[in-house]
Amino acid sequence: MLVMMKAHATREQIDAVCDKIASLGLHAHPIPGETRTAIGVTGNQGPVKAELFESLPGVGECVPVSKPYKLVGREAKPETTVIDLGDGVRIGGDELAVIAGPCAVESPEQARAVAAAVSASGARLFRGGAYKPRTSPYSFQGLAVDGLRILAAIRAEYGLKIVTEAIDVESVDLVEEYGDVIQVGARNMQNFSLLKRVGRSSRPVLLKRGNAATLEELLMAAEYILAEGNYRVILCERGIRTFADHTRNTLDLSVVPAVQQLSHLPIIVDPSHGTGRRDKVIPLSRAAVAAGADGLIVEVHNNPEEALSDGNQSVHPHEFEQLMRELRQIAPVLGRSLP
Ligand code: PEP
Ligand code: MN
Repeated sequence: MLVMMKAHATREQIDAVCDKIASLGLHAHPIPGETRTAIGVTGNQGPVKAELFESLPGVGECVPVSKPYKLVGREAKPETTVIDLGDGVRIGGDELAVIAGPCAVESPEQARAVAAAVSASGARLFRGGAYKPRTSPYSFQGLAVDGLRILAAIRAEYGLKIVTEAIDVESVDLVEEYGDVIQVGARNMQNFSLLKRVGRSSRPVLLKRGNAATLEELLMAAEYILAEGNYRVILCERGIRTFADHTRNTLDLSVVPAVQQLSHLPIIVDPSHGTGRRDKVIPLSRAAVAAGADGLIVEVHNNPEEALSDGNQSVHPHEFEQLMRELRQIAPVLGRSLP
């Protein structure tokens, strides 16, 4: 259930409703909107009695939630969530968020070369895995904390915000210490203990769609994070597995407007994992922005032929520059801008 406060409800009235919810052994999630605050009620097994709240000062109405996800749905918050990372970097606002960088951090030299290039092209967020979920146990697994230290140095030198993956509950402590956004990868989309742990983090979470997950499963995974109190979640389409074999995955761009209809959370697109092929990254990036995505996460490598992971889908710095040039022309058609 959602307790919809009146437009001019005071802080004290909102707190009083939250206290009432807590006194029933339930959890209160105040979600401020543009015109009014909605308070999500979770933790109930059966229906919650609306009469318990309707007479409290400042309460407008109580509305049952029709969807299984209570907090990520647009019913809870009609306007799209904008995630503010500080220094003017936002995800979900008018400006497209472009996250660029290598699949994995390999060395200080490699990370710096890519960071210099992508920041010169206008990216404001840097990606790079220090912990890599690899299909083979014999593949490069990432530099772990040494990689995180390299990422922190990149932030200090280039002012880029750092997006990096936590592959398990154990790695979250360090990822939240060194990174700005915690990535939860496709393979972990339904790792519920990891979702609960990042739900208790103060860092925003980039949640990638599992490669066989439905839209509802993606939204329910996000709900795990919000239910723990972290409302700063960015969804990411990164391709799903189909019978098509001309690309590594099938990039499901139709999920972008579908998410936007159902959820207030921002959604970005990963054309790199979505296609697995360097020559497909630019066309699918254009299409993602045209479909209304709030941003992109793109793998860029200074020497993709020698990359320790995902070289085939990593674009060269000059291709990334071209992509940004093209996006600057496409973005205004959608009422968007690019730095
Ligand atoms: C990645 O971003 O490098 C990655 C492993 O992505 P995904 O979880 O989408 O496969
Ligand atoms: Mn990768």
